[in-house]
Amino acid sequence: WKKLFNPNCIYFFLDFDDDDVYGQSVDDDYCCISPTTAKLYSCLDHMRTVLGDAVHDSVLTQAAIRCGFDPQKALDAVLSEDAKTAQLTKSTSEETASVARVSQEKAGGESHASHNKLDSEVVPKVARMTVSGKKQTMGFDVPRYLARENGVVAASGRRGGSPEGATATPASEATSKRPETPSKGSNGEEAYSVPTPSRSTGKARQSINIKAELEKRQGGKPLLNLVVIGHVDAGKSTLMGHLLYLLGNVNKRTMHKYEQESKKAGKASFAYAWVLDETGEERNRGVTMDVGMTKFETNSKVVTLMDAPGHKDFIPNMITGAAQADVAVLVVDASRGEFEAGFEAGGQTREHALLVRSLGVTQLAVGVNKMDQVNWQQDRFQDISSKLGHFLKQAGFKESDVFYVPTSGLTGENLATRSSVSQLTSWYSGPSLMEQIDAFKAPQRSVDKPFRMCVSDVFKDQGSGFCVTGKIEAGYIQLGERILAMPPNETCTVKGITLHDEALDWAAAGDHVSLTVTGMDIIKINVGCVFCDIKEPIRACTRFRARILLFNIEVPITQGFPVLLHYQTVSEPATIRKLNSVLHKSSGEVLKKKPKCLSKGMNAIVEIQTQRPVSLELYKDYKELGRFMLRYVGSTIAAGVVTEVQRSSL
Ligand code: GDP
Repeated sequence: WKKLFNPNCIYFFLDFDDDDVYGQSVDDDYCCISPTTAKLYSCLDHMRTVLGDAVHDSVLTQAAIRCGFDPQKALDAVLSEDAKTAQLTKSTSEETASVARVSQEKAGGESHASHNKLDSEVVPKVARMTVSGKKQTMGFDVPRYLARENGVVAASGRRGGSPEGATATPASEATSKRPETPSKGSNGEEAYSVPTPSRSTGKARQSINIKAELEKRQGGKPLLNLVVIGHVDAGKSTLMGHLLYLLGNVNKRTMHKYEQESKKAGKASFAYAWVLDETGEERNRGVTMDVGMTKFETNSKVVTLMDAPGHKDFIPNMITGAAQADVAVLVVDASRGEFEAGFEAGGQTREHALLVRSLGVTQLAVGVNKMDQVNWQQDRFQDISSKLGHFLKQAGFKESDVFYVPTSGLTGENLATRSSVSQLTSWYSGPSLMEQIDAFKAPQRSVDKPFRMCVSDVFKDQGSGFCVTGKIEAGYIQLGERILAMPPNETCTVKGITLHDEALDWAAAGDHVSLTVTGMDIIKINVGCVFCDIKEPIRACTRFRARILLFNIEVPITQGFPVLLHYQTVSEPATIRKLNSVLHKSSGEVLKKKPKCLSKGMNAIVEIQTQRPVSLELYKDYKELGRFMLRYVGSTIAAGVVTEVQRSSL
């Protein structure tokens, strides 16, 4: 009986329980049995003690149900050789299974309709779970894999290796298994390409001149993704909130409301910071978004602004924001002692700057903020600029790509327009922050490459299907197109494309979009999945080779070292499996083969193994999907680029 009922129990368990159930043994799953089912079991047990195995299960079940689970009456019914029962005794094992299914439904005190009711209840619950999975992923402590575990049945089933997967894989999953197709990778080693999905490749792409369309859509203004980074309390949200207000993105009445509300909450000084919190689309959905996102325009650009959290615990969220950014504004607090606190070891100024650089950001505006606190002193500004400049150069920023702007987020000086404060104008005649942002060079978008989008959020909306959000890293997508999600290596159809709350027919590289997709189960999609072109899909793997640069680490890295792998929206437990070689920092020449350990500042080739399949690209093909960070016990220990994708698990 356990065997008959357990697959469903596991289903219920996974669908309805928010807790981590990974590794839960099958026997533990009895707790999900309804009281009626328990009565049935007890009745059957009683009948068995009298009848042993002489009578078929289905006969006993039928009798038990007919007799309201009264063991005595049920026994009498069976023993009086009821004709119907006798006939059932001869039933085939398949019939038995089907009877058992019906009886299970009945035993639950529910009809077939009620079974359907259960199914429909799964949807919102699953959706909620997925959203909370997303929240956990975006938050650090995190366990993204917990969210993943909710879909782990499918994942382990596909791998086919783990006992959990073997037990829990439902029949419908089993049929969706596809064989791996080994092929020779570009590096000559055996790589595993993604099997061509068996389902139809869907609507053919209409040919559009994407570059011309993009030009038209943006009115000639290129798109710039900007992340705001810096130590906690440096004034990032206030500065950007105030800038948005000055640009007219927040009306006076709303601003007044924030002022009143923040005053009431005893946080009057946070009124501008609330602008960003309040405009985040996540807020509208009642879900806290850790990287606030909004849009504004400068003279020559359309800017997507991401406000990354500064707190140390949220560095991974910051990585998520930074990975999607083209340029960054680093905010530092000019107040005495505060700049120093953020800049010292333990502060986030250095770490953030290092992270954005490692994630590909080359242009940086430094908002030397809270200048009002230091009477707009030139000395203080210069002192901070030169300390930071020295460090930023070491971090890999070109001097000519870093710009220092004295600001006050609170008073609004030098944000949207140049300041008229005489204390400042006496020595500063440079651009305002807004002018500086406008002057950034817009990046080249990879619109010609096959479509790639890394999922940063998954949620159930009204209507059919579900929504995924993320930045399109390469290529473009059209309404009605079929795309592939990796993992889980399944296809779906794009039913809707939304960019900044506007419905579109297409979207292209650089756009932060929300896609409504159908034909796929929401439970299979997690933050970090990559949606891609069906014909030229991304590779998923559990092992890859990379060139890494070690930061200022205290512990040397040895083989088997556990790390958290971060890139784009992915955060995955991993292990450094092999230390291949130490390289010369600039020439790349091999200095030592098979080193025993790696220490700070070293450049090395290593092999990394992830717990679960991750979708990666070679750095040389797609920079954005081929570079990553490694973290260990809350610190970023290395940045790296993928040089070979070695093994697939899909
Ligand atoms: P974040 O953590 O970097 O986003 O910092 P917030 O924007 O939340 O600001 C932290 C505190 O610093 C708030 O009390 C702000 O009012 C204050 N603050 C922000 N910018 C300035 C500024 O330019 N001058 C002064 N005096 N205070 C500021």
